[in-house]
Amino acid sequence: ATPTALLVGTGRGAQLGIVIRGPEVLESTRRIQVVLLDKTGTLTSGRMRVTEVHPAPGEDAAQVLRIAGAAEDGSEHPIGRAIARAARDARADATLPPATEFAGDAGLGVRAVVEGHRVVVGRDSLFGELPPVLAGALAGERELGRTAVVVGWAGQPRGLISVADTVRPTAAAAVADLRRLGLRPILLTGDSTAVARAVATEVGIAAGEVISEVLPEEKVAAVRQLQQDGHTVAMVGDGVNDAAALAQADLGIAMGGGTDAAIEASDLTLVHGDPRLMADAIRLSRATLRTIR
Ligand code: ADP
Ligand code: MG
Repeated sequence: ATPTALLVGTGRGAQLGIVIRGPEVLESTRRIQVVLLDKTGTLTSGRMRVTEVHPAPGEDAAQVLRIAGAAEDGSEHPIGRAIARAARDARADATLPPATEFAGDAGLGVRAVVEGHRVVVGRDSLFGELPPVLAGALAGERELGRTAVVVGWAGQPRGLISVADTVRPTAAAAVADLRRLGLRPILLTGDSTAVARAVATEVGIAAGEVISEVLPEEKVAAVRQLQQDGHTVAMVGDGVNDAAALAQADLGIAMGGGTDAAIEASDLTLVHGDPRLMADAIRLSRATLRTIR
């Protein structure tokens, strides 16, 4: 590979909105066979909004949202940002009570102390059995393709908040583009199987190519397993929860507008967050390296 051709390819990438860490990255891009696609923030816009608050029996919906919003105020996850924003918007003075001891568990949820309560907002698996009203609401929300998280304090689940996200307008075309290039797209997400399948259907990925309900370290394991099976793997993601998998992949691709951790762990960044740029990057690397030989 002549350095000049690689530099020209890198420059062409920048024009397209693909930031390439170094010229050598184009070589690994060309060899990719499997593309793991994160859901939230990658295939979807990640611009989530709260659609419903379901209180547990004896709880007040406004209070559930207010406490959850305060606990999520320090979160940079799209779910956390949506909950904090909705909680602020619901208040005449747009303020939230202060939270202390904030801690985020990537791929699980957040914890914080609000008004003396130990608050947890996150996956239902963080809680024991849910009261029937909440379990029913959770199933209903998932049927609608919505992500729902549980809010609890003092060891008790107090409510459920559902958030809606929209599939990016170019996601289905991006998946079709990858297939046309001979690549195998797989959806990889920490979200529930029901929600993951709804998004997969919308973008044209079969249920058998969906890996769901995985923790960040299980995303890494999924990448490693495919590599052990002899595949060259690209991973596309945007979140803190994706960073380790992005680093493990043969090619890590970050969505522009994603978290710094994802961008730092990646070889390529798609500046405008348009998933169609994934196929453009692969086409570019193939074209660049063809001119070299
Ligand atoms: P994805 O792989 O689709 O990007 P994540 O791994 O970021 O999803 O999150 C997986 C699940 O963890 C979410 O569906 C949600 O249930 C929970 N979760 C993650 N972060 C938060 C948060 N800040 N607040 C509440 N729940 C969260
Ligand atoms: Mg994500």
